[in-house]
Amino acid sequence: MMEHLTIKRKKTRPVYVGDVQVGGGAPIVVQSMTCTDTRDVKATIEQIGRLEDAGCELARVAVPDREAAQSLVNIKKDIKIPLIADIHFSHILAIEAIKNGVDGIRINPGNIGKEKIREIISAAGERDVAIRIGVNAGSLEKEMLSKYGGPTPAALVESALNSIAVFEDMGFYSIKVSLKSSDVATMVAAYRLISDKTDYPLHLGVTEAGSIISSSVKSSIGIGILLYEGIGDTIRVSITGDPVTEADIAYRILRTLNIRRVGPDIISCPACGRCEIDLFRLVEEVEKRLAGMKEYMKIALMGCVVNGPGEAAEADIGIAGGRGLGMLFKKGEVIRKVKEENLVDVLMDEIEGEVASRRKHAE
Ligand code: SF4
Repeated sequence: MMEHLTIKRKKTRPVYVGDVQVGGGAPIVVQSMTCTDTRDVKATIEQIGRLEDAGCELARVAVPDREAAQSLVNIKKDIKIPLIADIHFSHILAIEAIKNGVDGIRINPGNIGKEKIREIISAAGERDVAIRIGVNAGSLEKEMLSKYGGPTPAALVESALNSIAVFEDMGFYSIKVSLKSSDVATMVAAYRLISDKTDYPLHLGVTEAGSIISSSVKSSIGIGILLYEGIGDTIRVSITGDPVTEADIAYRILRTLNIRRVGPDIISCPACGRCEIDLFRLVEEVEKRLAGMKEYMKIALMGCVVNGPGEAAEADIGIAGGRGLGMLFKKGEVIRKVKEENLVDVLMDEIEGEVASRRKHAE
């Protein structure tokens, strides 16, 4: 069997957001942020429910005004995963969100001011609410910008360290830190730098990453480089689109690096001139039918019977297309021939059988 490289993770201290541990050796936590109007309680709960089904472990919502802050009470009642309030500028809203039962808040201390930050810290301390110090290249303090000539990695890190000092002065250590930038190189350099200077858990993300394709590339590179170096405790892939896709891509990044094996890892060949089936349609259909599957399994979808089983020998289960007649194979061994029109159904049956037998063994 092929040996996988093991990534040595940097030790960070554990911080709890509700009952979810972030850092301190816990599995890397996948989180996302809703794109509903938080005042629309029903829509927000519905979207968080879909995120939960997709395996998302922390949900963040924007809290732009008092009505949104009040909605948190009802949202919290109907969701299973911890809730984080995203606050900009207003310490009043941060305190109200804390009082309304959120498990964590995210603030950018740079746009709130020290005195008001202290009020937030004291409210969070009373209720065991974790705080993410979310420094963002786009909203860095003026003094940092002029000292460093722009939102450089060093400027982001100094801003975060200054904020951490204010929290620590008040004996508050339930902190996570993020240093986001839409520039991947800046983001990677900033996290590397801060990872050497603090052991608070780090929340990784590329901000304003764009649409699905653009964000998948930027996030995979930015978050992927850092995770590969052992840096990072929780990740958020940011997409202009459905947040459920964010969770899906986040898990794909973790699977690709063999960090967390959750869900099906579908491998498919590029369909060269030897391809004997409509592989594009087949991949689309299999992905659709496996959406929501939590068990890890490497599933191969290959275009021809001549090379398919061999090329995908490391897959747990796979199918290879043939003119009228395809093949089902496991770990590179052909199990049986299958009529082309039945390939997907047979594959699904085999996957379900495999999942059931794994569950039985685990009992
Ligand atoms: Fe081409 Fe067959 Fe390889 Fe797919 S499995 S890339 S169709 S040779």
